[in-house]
Amino acid sequence: MDPKRQVSASLAPFGTSIFTEMTQLANRLGAVNLSQGFPDFDGPEELRRLAAEDLLRGPNQYAPSPGVPELRQAVAAKLRRFHGLEVDPEREVTVTAGATEGLASALLGLLDPGDEVILLEPFYDLYPAMVARAGARPVCVPLQGPGFELDQRALERAFNPRTRAVLVNNPQNPCGKVYSAEELRFLGELCQRHGAVAIGDEVYEHLVYDGRRHVSLLEVPGLREASIVISSTAKTFSMTGWKVGYAVAAPPLTAAVRAAHQFLTFCTPGPLQRAMAVGLGFADDYYRELLEAYTRRRARLCDALTELGLEVSRPAGTYYATWRIGGLGATDDLEFCRRLAAQAGVAAIPFSVFYQERRGGRDQVRLAFCKRDDTLEEAIARLRRWRRS
Ligand code: PMP
Ligand code: GLN
Repeated sequence: MDPKRQVSASLAPFGTSIFTEMTQLANRLGAVNLSQGFPDFDGPEELRRLAAEDLLRGPNQYAPSPGVPELRQAVAAKLRRFHGLEVDPEREVTVTAGATEGLASALLGLLDPGDEVILLEPFYDLYPAMVARAGARPVCVPLQGPGFELDQRALERAFNPRTRAVLVNNPQNPCGKVYSAEELRFLGELCQRHGAVAIGDEVYEHLVYDGRRHVSLLEVPGLREASIVISSTAKTFSMTGWKVGYAVAAPPLTAAVRAAHQFLTFCTPGPLQRAMAVGLGFADDYYRELLEAYTRRRARLCDALTELGLEVSRPAGTYYATWRIGGLGATDDLEFCRRLAAQAGVAAIPFSVFYQERRGGRDQVRLAFCKRDDTLEEAIARLRRWRRS
């Protein structure tokens, strides 16, 4: 039997994730991998040592399903420190297997068939897949122009009595947009007016550049009780493989998250949670130095490629730069990325896969700069040679 036929009708259209495809291609071709967003350096040794000692000490049994108390308290303390928010670690914080499971739990726990979820294009690939798996319908609102502006009228028109939730990725992968407080306030008003839930994916919360402040959905007027904010330790501590994430929401919405979480993973590994509790508590210096290091990497990649005459823009947030390839005569980003990996030896991510039916983004690709200096230098050198030839 065709093995494809075994995949559920809701998930079959999504095929294999672009991150798997591009990393496999990079590995096969020996290309510098600026595609999938993972650092090629390790996270803090102190945290790795703590987790290793915890694993050896044991016990190595199930953690409490909502998360170990130390980590839930650390999440609450961090929200107080960075946002002045008071959250109850017992009733409002749930630890998940990365933001991936946090998002899946929120969507599967909240949605019923017939519900609609508003997504802002370009969206992270998981969203439409999990919305579909929940039997709900994604309603896409594309951001506009090179600055990925929010068309407030289009957003307003997308809301209707079937709207159950709107999903906001801030800062936004892949385009690097950071929403203004005013945009978020408008969104909050719409959610209140229509009784919709705002789901925030804030995994890049500590990578907001140029002196701007990250505004969490939880601090937007009217959204403290009407939002589920999901984040992750993956980016902030440069250990994407640990998969320690969390969801924060008022108790009734936390109940929805936990309703699904208990049947998806039940719990996340305790030693990794306890180590990340220490990480979240790191002094402000840690967070400042993280941002400084990424500000340097952003400049290194974007400046060098701009000097080569390539249209690469600095993101306001995240660790991804947007490269406009239209000027090179390229008309299909996916084709372009496959060719670039083979011809230049650099792997990137096409933008169009983050649009419904690939109807947008064909003239853009994403470059990840969460890499060591020597990796970025090698990528730049290869692109220079490719540009000359
Ligand atoms: N949301 C966005 C926007 C992401 O880029 C990622 C990838 N880190 C995730 C969610 C998933 O996070 P995690 O690795 O913690 O599951
Ligand atoms: N979030 C990562 C990215 O955008 C990929 C995570 C994954 O591979 N699922 O590159």
